[in-house]
Amino acid sequence: MPTSPLRSVADHQRRIADLLGSLAPTPVPLTEARGLVLAEPVTAPESLPSFDNSAMDGYAVRAEDIADASPDSPVRLPVAADIPAGSPGGDLAPGTAHRIMTGAPLPRGADAVVEVELTDGGTDVVAITGAREAGSFIRSAGVDVAAGTTVLDAGAVIGPAQIGLLAALGVREVVVRPRPRVLVCSTGSELTEDPEPDAGQIRDSNSFMLAAAVEDAGAVAIRRLWAADDVPTFLGILDAELDAGVDLILTSGGVSAGAYEVVKDALGPRGVEFTKVAMQPGMPQGSGTYGDAAVVCLPGNPVSSLVSFEVFVRPALRASYGHPRPHRRVVRAALTEAVTSPAGKRQLRRGRLDPAAGTVEPWGPPGSGFLGWLAGADCLIDLPADVTSLDAGATVDVWDLTD
Ligand code: AMP
Ligand code: MG
Repeated sequence: MPTSPLRSVADHQRRIADLLGSLAPTPVPLTEARGLVLAEPVTAPESLPSFDNSAMDGYAVRAEDIADASPDSPVRLPVAADIPAGSPGGDLAPGTAHRIMTGAPLPRGADAVVEVELTDGGTDVVAITGAREAGSFIRSAGVDVAAGTTVLDAGAVIGPAQIGLLAALGVREVVVRPRPRVLVCSTGSELTEDPEPDAGQIRDSNSFMLAAAVEDAGAVAIRRLWAADDVPTFLGILDAELDAGVDLILTSGGVSAGAYEVVKDALGPRGVEFTKVAMQPGMPQGSGTYGDAAVVCLPGNPVSSLVSFEVFVRPALRASYGHPRPHRRVVRAALTEAVTSPAGKRQLRRGRLDPAAGTVEPWGPPGSGFLGWLAGADCLIDLPADVTSLDAGATVDVWDLTD
């Protein structure tokens, strides 16, 4: 019997991205917007700064009053007012100075600030030992941002600097695509969260790992669940959560060719497609919808699970909230040792990248059961499907998992 051809990694990536699609824009408070992406441009509702203010601690003056000041013949002006930051400012009479702090409003009538270093620091009368041109050390209203201009474009990723700008402008809500809401469900009758597993049991690592990966991708892991290898139990667990507004159900385990493949047995008859992808690790994959949610079913071996997440789920999650860079940064690096790879399968091997040397060291065996090695790696070495061996020194694509 002819075996059906394996699906390419790129085709399965497209399928998962299409399943998740693009989430509808919604307003969110600024304090919850970090890492999200603007769905609409932001226009400055006011100017920054919003009033003329001092760029230095010093004295507000009229430039013409101090035009003749020099170290040998200082100009002495009465200090008529003190303007700390936060005070409303005032009016400067000709022939006087106001002591002014950085950020305080420039008094009307002043056209320059003399820095304190150019004075004797007087509080009743100040001696000024140099001239300053009109405009010196004044931050004029609107010099940074003019009211009505676009300060952030649609597609901008909201980081600390953007949050700072929006806060300064009084913008407290932004329109973004929301974080995708993900239900993470491990399957396997061998799994337990008991710190002391019984004979034959192992601790569930995938639900912790995948929930962390979901959050790391900018999505929300709304629930972390576990189901035994029993179809009614598994479906019951999913059904109980579907009302919570779930964008993605992410399962692990139960998708390969053995007996007791609970995910396949439960969701296969309900329209979820189970496929073999031409990749190592992570060949068996499931994808489709259940209720209103997208479903992605990852294999159970922890390394396969996380590598599959990296390849298929992370970019789709990031694309669903509009991230301009859904994929990891790919760099080229030279292998420190020779590698082999199965014909016809794209291999994503764990590695350690040395950016300074431009080299990458394969980290642990290519098989899918090596969680200890996975945790020590910082990149994935991406070997194309047609590669079967490469010598040390060959240049390869490397996904930087730290970026
Ligand atoms: P499966 O894909 O369900 O056949 O699982 C493949 C292998 O991965 C088995 O050795 C499982 O015990 C292991 N495995 C499956 N799920 C998990 C999990 N959540 N945590 C740790 N190991 C798992
Ligand atoms: Mg299993």
